[in-house]
Formats: sequence, C-alpha cells, structure tokens
Amino acid sequence: MTTLDPWGAVKIDNYSKLFDEFGISKFEDLLGKIKNPHRYMRRRVIFGHRSYDSVLNAMLSGKPFAAMSGFMPTGKAHLGHKMVMEEIIWHQQQGGDAFLAIADMEAHAVRGKTWKECRELGINEYILSAIALGLLPGAHIYFQSGFNPVKDLSFEIGIKANFSELSAIYGFSGDTNISHMVSTLTQSADILHPQLKEFGGPKPVVIPVGADQDPHIRLTRGLAYKTNMFFVEERRAGNGLISVRGKAAPKEALKEIAKRTGGKLYEEHVDISGRTLDDVESVVREVELEYGGYAFMPPASTYHKFMTGLQGGKMSSSIPESYIGLTDKPEDGAKKVMRAITGGRVTLYEQKKLGGEPDKCSVYELLLYHLVEDDNELLEVYKDCVGGTRVCGNCKKFTAELMRRFLKDHQEKREAAREMLGEFGLSIT
Ligand code: SF4
Repeated sequence: MTTLDPWGAVKIDNYSKLFDEFGISKFEDLLGKIKNPHRYMRRRVIFGHRSYDSVLNAMLSGKPFAAMSGFMPTGKAHLGHKMVMEEIIWHQQQGGDAFLAIADMEAHAVRGKTWKECRELGINEYILSAIALGLLPGAHIYFQSGFNPVKDLSFEIGIKANFSELSAIYGFSGDTNISHMVSTLTQSADILHPQLKEFGGPKPVVIPVGADQDPHIRLTRGLAYKTNMFFVEERRAGNGLISVRGKAAPKEALKEIAKRTGGKLYEEHVDISGRTLDDVESVVREVELEYGGYAFMPPASTYHKFMTGLQGGKMSSSIPESYIGLTDKPEDGAKKVMRAITGGRVTLYEQKKLGGEPDKCSVYELLLYHLVEDDNELLEVYKDCVGGTRVCGNCKKFTAELMRRFLKDHQEKREAAREMLGEFGLSIT
C-alpha cells in the first residue's frame, strides 16, 4: 500500500498506483478539450486529477470557477513552488478567480516559525515571486492568521471532523499538538472558502498540488459533503432515479426541492426521475443557499509530478544544492546547474555510441519544466541527447545560461512587484 504523507519526504516512485489505490483519474483523458493547455499539461507533468471536468466545463462555458493554493512560509521559494504559482496564474488567465494563501498558522504550529518570520517569508519569498510570475491584481492573497472568513469556516467544518479521521489520514498521535490538528482544518477552509457567498458562492475550484498532498484533498472533499445540508445520489445512471437526502435539513427545504424538480417527497428524502444529475444538483444548491447552507461543490484537484533534486533524490529545502531558489543569485543558480547530475554516460565515446538518458537527467528536467517553452525545441534537445549528438558539458552550459537569464529577469520583475503590493491589498511590513 502506498502511503502519502503531506509533511514527510516521501518519494512517489510509481504514479500509476495512485490511479488504482486512491481513485485519481488520468489527466490526459481531458487534455484534448483544453484550449491553450499549459506546458505542464501538454508535457504530462500534470498526470492526474479529481473532478477537474467540473472546472473545465465552467471554463469552456464562461461560468465562474477558481483556482487556489497555499504556501507554507518556512524557507526559500524554489522551482517546485513556481510550478504551483504558474498553475494558479494559468487558471487566472483562463478567466478563473485566483486565491493564494500564506499558510502561516501551519508554519507557526508545525514548524515553529515566529509570526514575524512567517510575514517576512510570506511576502518576500512567495507573494513577490507569484506576482513577478504573472499573478494579476484581482487575485485574493491572504495570510491565514489575519483572515477571518477562513478562520470562521475552519471552526464550522471542524464540527464535522473527528480525531480518528484526522489521525487515520495524517498519523496524529497523543503527542501531536492541537494547533497542528487545527491547521489541517484551516487548510480545508482555505480550499473551500472561495465558495462562500462573499466570494461569489458555490463554484468549481481547482487545487493544483503534488501527489503527496492528496490526503488534504480527500479530507476536504469529505468535509464538503458532510457540511452540506443535502446529499444527492444517483441511484440509476443516466436519466434514472436521483435521490436527495436531507440529513438535518429543514423539512420546508426538502419540500421546495420536490416542488422545483417535480420529485416525490418522502419523510427524509426526495426521489426524482427524468432529470440529469447536474440539473438536480444545481436546484439543490440553489435551495440550500436560500436556507442558509453552504452548498459546497467538492473541490477539484490536479496532481503534478515532482522535480527530482539537482543532485538526484528529492528536492529538499534543507539541502540548498538540491534546488534552485527563486531568489538565488543568477550566477549561483547557473553554478548549481553546472554541478547537477545528468543522464550522461561515463565516457564521451559511450555517450556518442549509446546516447544520453534525458529521462534520468535533472538538467533536462529544468528545460522541460521551466526553461524551454517551445515543444519542438525541447523535442530537438531530447532527440539530440538520445541520438548521442548532444554532450552534457555543452548542454549544461546552455541550460545554466538559460537559468541565469531566467533568474535575472525574474528578480527584476520581483522588484517591480514590490510596487504592486498595494494593488493586492498588501504592504511590505
Ligand atoms: S546531453 Fe543534456 S539532456 Fe542529455 S543527458 Fe546530458 S545534460 Fe542531460
């Protein structure tokens, strides 16, 4: 059994297991429907999803949708964080509302960071980089500790979560501090709050994450179901029988659903036939909102592969040589590329004869994930590598130069982003 641990340093070797064991769907099945897919989508870096169809349908039909993610301010923002920022920005560019949380409550409770450190790292490392990468005003950026809608919602959904459930997902024990447990609920509230009335009400919301974050997503989807007044179940597929159960809903609300759907009212449920599931769910949400409920849609998620560390193994914030930070000096970033592990052969003779192994090369990964936008150009690099006409020394120099230029350009944009903080309702202090 694969174990997913959001706070651990697990390496997920076999992504395909996730489809079977955790019910994650293949992203490539949706790819053909997406206009202008992001390079992570085109290049199968994003490999899985839950309910992304709901986001895609909203995107294609001009209906509201959103993307949200959170960053724990514990150290330098690096290329792994850039991936998530880019995914949020891409969804904003497609017409979605963007939400970006700084998970300072989690950093304080789980990693012992002071509030001052959280504030400084949050602004300097994460927020400035997100704006420099293209996040536009209109995006909702907040620190958890100063944001009452999330704190209030976290209290509310906490009523539906219990210790056994959280322990089963996160491995909490009797020694786990209570604020650590609360921080998991705060993250669930982060994910659900874009659907609150004050942010436009229920809508599809995608959370782009690495596969190790799936436990949060599963917990939050469960909490969304439990917090809602109604449970809608398709008892016969297609236009067959759909049942709406009221749990603790007012009887009047159930009556209203029966009236608006033409369904048959029973003591605690309504049976509806001849309507589609989408149709019924939409009526149920409408009625639930009128009666003061949340009517959350289960949050959607996309899952991306992790980048490997520059020295092999996993990228780790505690090993500076394993990652490139977005605030690393451009020359230092280039040097890290020159020292990175490649998929090259032991001798030049073998390289020319057998070709390199880009699939095992951290330098190639930098090109694929970050530095080459044009798919054809990337394909040429790949072909030259496996064909043995590209040698690692030159390839590293080429990549190091692209990295140097990227960091220089990004850091200039970060300076400009400082001037834009006010447009996001933020200040440097
Ligand atoms: S030639 Fe480039 S892509 Fe191929 S193994 Fe060497 S560094 Fe990696």
